[in-house]
Amino acid sequence: MKFIADTHSHTLASGHAYSTITEMAEAAAARGLKTLALTEHAPEMPGTCGLYYFQNLDVVPRVQKGVRLLMGAEVNIMDPDGTLDLPEDTLKDLDIVVASIHLPCYGSGHTPEENIRAYVETMKKPYVNIIGHPDDGRFPFDYEILVRTAKETGTLLELNNSSLRPQSSRVGTRENMLTMLDLCRQYDVPVTTGSDAHVNADAGNFTYVREVLEYCGFPEELVVTTDLDRLRQFIPSL
Ligand SMILES: [Zn+2]
Ligand SMILES: [Zn+2]
Repeated sequence: MKFIADTHSHTLASGHAYSTITEMAEAAAARGLKTLALTEHAPEMPGTCGLYYFQNLDVVPRVQKGVRLLMGAEVNIMDPDGTLDLPEDTLKDLDIVVASIHLPCYGSGHTPEENIRAYVETMKKPYVNIIGHPDDGRFPFDYEILVRTAKETGTLLELNNSSLRPQSSRVGTRENMLTMLDLCRQYDVPVTTGSDAHVNADAGNFTYVREVLEYCGFPEELVVTTDLDRLRQFIPSL
């Protein structure tokens, strides 16, 4: 499987990431990617950039080092109602929007029913293209509902390479991904791949994701980051 796109990464602007836009584009080019999404953490994440960062992205050239850059955000799902931390009139102008649950923003102690409601309500919103790392056992939920709602709403589910790192703080990620992939195959629901790189060395790094896809023999036709036309069906700005 050859990946030509990475739909989730971060630059210095996220506050706990370490490379510039140019360095990320260079690294993506070196890995043979055609497109790279730079999805900075949205404002409620401690230490990240503010609202104005996301409102000024039209100044950034969209092709750098021969790589098409998608300038977007990784918004925070704040609660079980699916409240997001960027307004819709900002989201609508971004090239790509990933929505994720993060401990500092969503908190702990929610029930599985609340967790799936958070994802379902998020997927029903306009401008959300991708659910980021729906693999974290610290926030358990029913994967069948997730996958069926993704199909109904045209939302992509992400395979997050960073979640599979041995030192990741997320738990049960490989097992949860395999559960999700089984259901995606059953319901014919495509997935995307995000490195979630916080440094240039990891841009387009899908080492762990590739292993999982090969392990379960997941069909390439359902991996949107192996074909630009396939990806474009879900990311119209591309
Ligand atoms: Zn995240
Ligand atoms: Zn991220």
